[in-house]
Amino acid sequence: MAGEPQDDCLFCKIVEGHIPATIVRESETTVAFRDINPQAPTHVLVIPRAHYPSAAELAAAEPMIAADVLREAHAVADEDKLESYRIVFNTGAGAGQTVFHAHAHVMGGRGMQWPPG
Ligand code: AMP
Ligand code: ZN
Repeated sequence: MAGEPQDDCLFCKIVEGHIPATIVRESETTVAFRDINPQAPTHVLVIPRAHYPSAAELAAAEPMIAADVLREAHAVADEDKLESYRIVFNTGAGAGQTVFHAHAHVMGGRGMQWPPG
């Protein structure tokens, strides 16, 4: 069923506490933890507890939870006192998505270029 935990999903395992993560924030609907391979001084992933393969599918099925992810992403930036930061939803392998459980990257603490690679 849509939103149910998937046995083969890394981020569902983090939500369930079966794989360790450095969790920085939790809400009823989301978990935020530090990226294992940080690309900036702050690099946190915000995920919905429910499993959806991409942010687009999350937003279509559960727009309120998609809004929670965005709100928590901004809260992470506030906690780390970031004046400038980037929130990224890689969507599809061609855009660099490697984990198919919706997630926002919150990145900041260094200068950034546009457009990204
Ligand atoms: P994406 O490429 O947009 O799908 O992002 C997946 C992110 O998950 C990458 O930045 C990885 O470094 C990160 N990642 C993979 N495994 C873990 C893990 N066990 N704990 C924290 N972050 C992870
Ligand atoms: Zn999942």
